[in-house]
Amino acid sequence: MSQNAIEIRDLRKTYTGGRKSPAKEALCGVSLDVPSGSVFGLLGPNGAGKSTLINIMAGLVTKTSGSVRIWGFDQDTNPRQSRAAIGVMPQELNLDPFFTPRGALEVQAGLYGVPRSQRRSDEILEMTGLTDKAEAYARTLSGGMRRRLLLGKALVHQPQVLVLDEPTAGVDIELRQMLWNNVRRLNRERGMTIILTTHYLEEAEEMCDEIAIINHGRLVAQDSTENLLGKLDARTMVIQPAAPPERLPEAEGLEVTHREDGALVLGYHANAMPAEAVLQAVRDAGISIRDVKTEQADLQDVFLALTSGR
Ligand code: ADP
Ligand code: MG
Repeated sequence: MSQNAIEIRDLRKTYTGGRKSPAKEALCGVSLDVPSGSVFGLLGPNGAGKSTLINIMAGLVTKTSGSVRIWGFDQDTNPRQSRAAIGVMPQELNLDPFFTPRGALEVQAGLYGVPRSQRRSDEILEMTGLTDKAEAYARTLSGGMRRRLLLGKALVHQPQVLVLDEPTAGVDIELRQMLWNNVRRLNRERGMTIILTTHYLEEAEEMCDEIAIINHGRLVAQDSTENLLGKLDARTMVIQPAAPPERLPEAEGLEVTHREDGALVLGYHANAMPAEAVLQAVRDAGISIRDVKTEQADLQDVFLALTSGR
């Protein structure tokens, strides 16, 4: 096995338009390596192309061009092996309403050719907290239970790579915690490679070793979470001085602009400089503060920073 669980090269997808909808280029040449054993976050705004990318990996959407290797197997030349190596929990709750959770797991196992003796339905029901509901019709399950069942279905063939597409969008805190605990355990105890998409930066921060950011069908960043968040610690403090300042605050790493409206705009990096040190520099310059507010970078800013000038 190579070091990468997934290797994607120059992947392109154009959805051919219909009579009313124009053709849409959803992926414009994405290349991406996912290290095996990692928890990998794929981030990006709505419509960025995350689900398209994931559904191509899963074999649910046909790519227009490019190559996808899963666990070393090329999707085109080794379709069976590459498919066996990946399990996908899709974004949509697409469950057959007339299957029970146990039935759904068994059918899925059948689809993947898992022999009866190797099926682990009980274990999966237990792990996803669905043992009590094993024989209930899917249409009677709550949204959270359906999501857990989808996770279970992705696991029946014991894939090396597990992909979760927005697993926690619109999900309550309790279920979110449960999902994350499951995912962590699969990663730590079984060495499963995990790829997930999310809108929530904190989630990516907490869960992922590495993050790729995708925007308009293009990869705009791929880095360790640590490095990426380093870029996120930029802060801006806007101070209204009580009187026009005679001199400007000075400190190492502090970037000061005196705005036309009299406000002082102070840029700094929170990891290198606590807010208190910024305030101290302001006081040291003999400035008394009438009003202060801070702004911190969020994912949107990183998008902007990474996509501007391209
Ligand atoms: P994300 O998951 O990041 O929100 P998607 O991959 O779902 O993004 O969508 C990427 C782009 O492709 C969007 O502009 C979306 O409208 C378009 N798209 C997605 N699926 C289809 C489809 N089946 N037919 C046509 N366009 C699609
Ligand atoms: Mg999506």
